[in-house]
Amino acid sequence: MNKIQEKLKEKGTLFVDGAWGTMMQNAGLKPGECPELWNLEHPEKVYEIAKAYADLGVDMVETNSFGATRFKLGNFGLEDKVFEINKAAAGLTKRALSEDQIVLGSVGPTGKILMMGDVTEEELYDGFAEQAKGLEAGGADAAIVETMTALDEALIAVKAVRENTDMEIVASFTFELTGAGEFRTMMGNRPVEAISAVIAEGVSIVGTNCGNGLERMIPIIEEIRAEFKDVPILVNANAGMPHLHDGKTVFPESPEEMAGFIPKIMDVGANIIGGCCGTTPEHIVKMMNAAKE
Ligand SMILES: [Zn+2]
Repeated sequence: MNKIQEKLKEKGTLFVDGAWGTMMQNAGLKPGECPELWNLEHPEKVYEIAKAYADLGVDMVETNSFGATRFKLGNFGLEDKVFEINKAAAGLTKRALSEDQIVLGSVGPTGKILMMGDVTEEELYDGFAEQAKGLEAGGADAAIVETMTALDEALIAVKAVRENTDMEIVASFTFELTGAGEFRTMMGNRPVEAISAVIAEGVSIVGTNCGNGLERMIPIIEEIRAEFKDVPILVNANAGMPHLHDGKTVFPESPEEMAGFIPKIMDVGANIIGGCCGTTPEHIVKMMNAAKE
């Protein structure tokens, strides 16, 4: 199944949804509550978020499964519900979409660090495989291994999805600007290093999400595009760089401000555009309109 690649050939630039966490907080998710449990306990609220994005006419919408491995669900005593929660997540997004929109199963980091001995490679692999099978069973067409900051974990996630499902895979990393003015993952990999490694592991669509607003994504995309001429690149930026206001994290960029970066983002080589933390349906629709101009 290569629905994303086919759509890219047809349309050139694709659009994805924006933030889920932001939308769920607006819908009443409390700090410390398990977001993915909402797939079982508040399915209508999850469906409404997927629907809000789907109705904009984006090409794909993610699932509410970012933290739905046994490692994170285990913190809530839900380690025996991994398959069920992921299946429900994919099913809710699928129900909100039209036939030609793509269900993109979200696979986030586990919070366990291999280098620290928190977990073994086998445990990580089994955990990602279990999640991926649930997502596929619920109707996910593709998986996005996203917000990855540890290359070893990302590679195991990709391998687990590839070997246990038929889902198309997007691998997306979070890069931070270092004091030396370079972009690196938290574990120290440059964009080209991280991207080369996942391509060698069989990934055909790569990307960067979170950690930066669109302006800072420009040099990251340039670096990847200089090395890889043809690979589709996804960019899901935050709504600017966050700051604290009255004890709350605020993402300051307006839909108009984000949309203002779209011509440049497309010009440097982004093919799939969506949003991460702080973005809303308004941000996505303004960016889509900017791309049409
Ligand atoms: Zn984010």
